[in-house]
Amino acid sequence: MRSTLTLVQGDITAQAVDAVVNAANSSLLGGGGVDGAIHRRGGPDILAECRALRAGHYGRGLPTGQAVATTAGRLPARWVIHTVGPVHSATEDRTALLVSCYTQSLRTAAELGARTVAFPAISAGVYRWPLPDAARTAVTTVRAALASDPTAFDEIRFVVFNDRAREAYEAALAEG
Ligand code: ADP
Repeated sequence: MRSTLTLVQGDITAQAVDAVVNAANSSLLGGGGVDGAIHRRGGPDILAECRALRAGHYGRGLPTGQAVATTAGRLPARWVIHTVGPVHSATEDRTALLVSCYTQSLRTAAELGARTVAFPAISAGVYRWPLPDAARTAVTTVRAALASDPTAFDEIRFVVFNDRAREAYEAALAEG
């Protein structure tokens, strides 16, 4: 089956998918926005695995643009894939790091055998990435990854919280 791209307006923690992507920060120890919601709803097992990652391979934290998986705890998913988006900068183009969040998350998902993956609008919250560009980067990067391996997944789902984000993704999806 070929992968389909879908858009859902709702809460990322409510998605029944194989893997939910977390817009984490490099500490891996929780934060606001998507990160806070995932830890709140997913329960303490996710944080316990994040702490173990910090005690092991990721002693200095998870670098921006990289991805790592843990259990999804009590979420209706099997795994959480934590990735750290770049903070938007007006003086430096950090798009490559945002692209890397999507490609590394998909690579991690494929390694796990996940067939359905839900992405939030990485960097578009506390990290201030302008929504139209965050949406365009998300859509074009996932499309390019799927083009190179069309049967790797069943569904890649973009999950947006509000009307403004939904409109930005609708526009990005209509472009290509
Ligand atoms: P970042 O720190 O990478 O900017 P945030 O979590 O602050 O990440 O926000 C990323 C995007 O996710 C924003 O567009 C925000 O509105 C949205 N968002 C926040 N909470 C949720 C949630 N529970 N489900 C889906 N999207 C959410």
